[in-house]
Amino acid sequence: MGNSTNPLIRLIMFTSEDCIYCPPVESIVKEVVGGAMSDFIYVNTVDVDENPEAAQRYNISSLPTLMINEQIVLQGGMDDDSIREILWNTLLSLAVANKERLERSKQSLLHVAVNTWESLTGERMLRKTLGDFIHLGPYQLTLLSLYSLDPLVPSILYQAGYQLGLFGLMHHLLNLLEPRLGMTIKRKNRLKFICDALELYYSDREFLPTYVAESAEVTTIKDDLFVIQIEGLASAAMKIDVGEPMCDFTAGTLAGVTDSLMGTQSIAVETACAANGAPHCEFTVYLDPENPNEIRKTPKVEDKLEIRERRLNFYESIHELSIKLEDSYFMRKRLRPSIGDMVHVSVYQPIVLSIKMMDDYLSSILFSAGRELGIFGSGKTLLYDIVQGMEGEGELQLPIEFNKGVDILQKYMTHPTTYLAKEWGIVETSPPDPDNPGVRYISVGDYGPVSGVPDLNLTLCDFLVGFLTGRLSVLIGEEPLIREVECQGTGAPFCKFEIKLQR
Ligand SMILES: [Zn+2]
Ligand SMILES: [Zn+2]
Repeated sequence: MGNSTNPLIRLIMFTSEDCIYCPPVESIVKEVVGGAMSDFIYVNTVDVDENPEAAQRYNISSLPTLMINEQIVLQGGMDDDSIREILWNTLLSLAVANKERLERSKQSLLHVAVNTWESLTGERMLRKTLGDFIHLGPYQLTLLSLYSLDPLVPSILYQAGYQLGLFGLMHHLLNLLEPRLGMTIKRKNRLKFICDALELYYSDREFLPTYVAESAEVTTIKDDLFVIQIEGLASAAMKIDVGEPMCDFTAGTLAGVTDSLMGTQSIAVETACAANGAPHCEFTVYLDPENPNEIRKTPKVEDKLEIRERRLNFYESIHELSIKLEDSYFMRKRLRPSIGDMVHVSVYQPIVLSIKMMDDYLSSILFSAGRELGIFGSGKTLLYDIVQGMEGEGELQLPIEFNKGVDILQKYMTHPTTYLAKEWGIVETSPPDPDNPGVRYISVGDYGPVSGVPDLNLTLCDFLVGFLTGRLSVLIGEEPLIREVECQGTGAPFCKFEIKLQR
């Protein structure tokens, strides 16, 4: 199915200039990972003298150290054959695990597709307390905080989108939107009908009211590529310039669905983005390109300064966006004047689901993104107002005590202005337990990204765990330990989080 279906494996090699065992290990890594493997293994070399924080964070005690998906697999000097064996064994077992994961991922995306269909046709509501439309604010903030984290995120989102395009509901919908697609065999006609169907997919609001975008137009069709412009795409309709394109998920979806309908290996790139100053988003989809690696380049490893600058830039964007969102929540000014700012949960769900299904270590990316938003995102004024309201007049005193902090978090989450985003339904906390003073539970019902998902034996709400961690640490002045103990993804009717003090 093409290399883009393969989930990423991340290999980090820690070295230094005066490490004598490093060069031979490095050349074996190149030998093993080079060639076919290089499409799905992301190799990063970290010099511990230049980057001591990274070495410390991962507890690197000797060199070289090889880490695959955040696990140390090799440390110190070793003979060449043992190095090769360790590398092959680890990578092969990951590849097998990935295959099983891919199958599970396919099943869960199909389930979500059925849900979506039933919800859109009015047969069933996924969120009984709130309905199945959600403000695009939480979706955009999730994306922004993900992008701010890691230069690898665009690739991850692209692959998540690709899976959705390949296995999700989209190709069935395109067939329904353009019935001739199901009948035609000629390659050239087929591509034309795909383009017609895509235009409808991103603009139709009667048959498919997901409100994923305002409108779309295919501007170029050739034998081996097409160009589509999408206006008001949910991921990019933010009316601020965040400094880079934000729609890798849609790019991946376009490539995946083209592959599934044309039987090709397609690659898509976003050539202009509304979140990057352009009037609309523009994607070029290449069919069976000769040099796929030149079209979508592997992200370069950035130096510390670049990473820092990129982050600061994103924090500014998150702040700017929060102001725009407030205007939108209160109906003062919409981000998408023609169709409004609500989207169907199905626009949101596959992102979380497919990131989560791709790889375990990606959970930590979702967690960190949520935590950043919890600490730096908007809504803190409201949080402080609630503290003031509970504490009476006088100056705001932070930090507050743990149990009070949890109660305030609950009040914050159910406050009408937070509630406007309709991200979650009922939020309840367990009463303080005198026998267990440092532990509380918080339950969240109808959380948008997971409502209606099947039992996958997997907790899915790492982003929310991160967000709650960040928000609560702002209140209590230390980072609590939060763990999702029940989730819709484990078959529970709501998500339940255990909150603990670290000490
Ligand atoms: Zn875009
Ligand atoms: Zn959950």
